Amino acid sequence: MSSASVSPANPKVGFVSLGCPKALVDSERILTQLRVEGYDIVQTYDDADVVVVNTCGFIDSAVTESLDAIGEAIAENGKVIVTGCLGKRSELIREAHPGVLSISGPQDYGSVMSAVHAALPPKHDPFLDLVPRRDDGIGVKLTPKHYAYLKISEGCNHRCSFCIIPSMRGDLVSRPVDDVLREAEKLAMGGVKELLVISQDTSAYGVDVKYAEREWRGKSYQTRMKALCEGLSELGIWTRLHYVYPYPHVDEIIPLMAEGKLLPYLDIPFQHASPRVLKLMKRPGAVDKTLERIQRWRSIAPDIAIRSTFIVGFPGETEAEFEELLDFLDEAQLDRVGAFAYSPVDGAKANDLPDPVDEDIKQDRLARFMERQAEISANKLEAKIGGVQRCIVDAIDGDLAIARSMADAPEIDGLVQIQNGLDAGLRVGQFVDVEIMGSDEHDLFGEAVLEG
Ligand code: SF4
Repeated sequence: MSSASVSPANPKVGFVSLGCPKALVDSERILTQLRVEGYDIVQTYDDADVVVVNTCGFIDSAVTESLDAIGEAIAENGKVIVTGCLGKRSELIREAHPGVLSISGPQDYGSVMSAVHAALPPKHDPFLDLVPRRDDGIGVKLTPKHYAYLKISEGCNHRCSFCIIPSMRGDLVSRPVDDVLREAEKLAMGGVKELLVISQDTSAYGVDVKYAEREWRGKSYQTRMKALCEGLSELGIWTRLHYVYPYPHVDEIIPLMAEGKLLPYLDIPFQHASPRVLKLMKRPGAVDKTLERIQRWRSIAPDIAIRSTFIVGFPGETEAEFEELLDFLDEAQLDRVGAFAYSPVDGAKANDLPDPVDEDIKQDRLARFMERQAEISANKLEAKIGGVQRCIVDAIDGDLAIARSMADAPEIDGLVQIQNGLDAGLRVGQFVDVEIMGSDEHDLFGEAVLEG
C-alpha cells in the first residue's frame, strides 16, 4: 500500500452520559451526529482527543455526580466539553472547573457540535461527507439493539412545586407525530422490538400544537397520545408509555391495551395520595377518583401493570397524611413502585414551604413505605405463578435467559429468569412465552414454553 492511500486516523471523542432516559436520548443524538461527521467514539480517556460530558442537574446528588464526572474527565484527559441539564447552571461548573472548553444546556446539539469542531476539526472525507455513515441506519443507540427510547416532546407545562424541569427545559414542545412515527419506523426496521415512549409529560403530547394532524403511511394522525399509540401499533412491536400525568383522557388509551395495540403498562407518577400534600405539590388531588379510575382501567384491561413513583416526607407532610399514603398503597395495589425521601432541589418552589420534615422521620417513612409496597409486590408476583407470561429476552447468562414480561420496563422494573434459556436456544431480542414457576419481591422465575 502506498503512503498516499493511508488515510489519517479519525478524530476521537470520549463520551460520558449521565442522567435520565431523556438525557440518554440527547446523548444518542449527539453521538449519531459525531459518527455521521466521521468522529470515532472511544472508550477511554487516554484514547480520546476530547471528552463530552452530558450532565444531569435534577437533584443535588446528580449535580455532585456531574461535577465529579467533569473533574475526572479534566484530570484524565484535559479537553472537556460539557452539555446537558447542569449546563443551565454554567456558573456552578465554571467555579468548580474553570478549564472546561464549552458549556451548553440540554438539547443544544448545535452548540455541542460547534465546540467539538473548534477543539477537534472533523476529518474531511469527500465520500463519507456526501453519504453520512450510520452503522444501522438508525443512528447510534446507547440502549441494547432490541429496545429504544422514543422521545416525543421536550419541556413541561406543569409547575409541580418540587420540580425545576420547566425552568430548565421550558414549556412543552411536541415533535410532529409523523416525525415521531418515521423515527419509530426506522428503529423497527433496524431491529428494535420494544419502544419506550418518553417525555416530561407524555399525556400532554400535542397540546402545544393543537393536536395538529399529519400524514404517515397515507393516513392522517393527530399529534396526540392516542393517535400516536395507534400509529405505533402498526409497527407490530411493543410500545410502552412512560411519564404519563394522571389526566382524565389517559382513560382513552386503556382500550388500546385491551386490544393488544399497546403494552398493558402505565408509568404514572402519582407522587402522593393526601389531597393536601398533592395541593402543596401542585398536582391533581382527587384521590378517590384516582382509585376509581384504576379499578375501571383494570376492568377494561385486566393485565394492566401500573408503575408509579412517590415522594415521602414532603414539607408539611403529617403522620396522618403519610398514613393516607400507606392506605392508598393498600387500596391501589400498584404493581411497581419507586419512592424517594423528599430532598430539596435548588430553585424549587417547595423549598419555601413551611414545616420541613426531619431527616430521620423522612427515612423512617421511606422504609415503612417500601416495606408495605414490597409485600404488595411480592403478593402480586406470586399470583402469577402457574400462568404464562409473554416476555422479551434481554440477555443470555450461562444456562439462563434474562427476560422481561410486558409488566417490566428495562432498568426500573423486575426480570423474568428463564431457567432453560440456553436449552431453548433463545436469543437476545426474541419474544417467548414463559411458564412462571416461582417469584420473589421483584422477579419471576420460569421456563420457556417450547413449541411443538
Ligand atoms: S409534570 Fe413532571 S416534569 Fe412537569 S413539572 Fe411536574 S414533575 Fe416536573
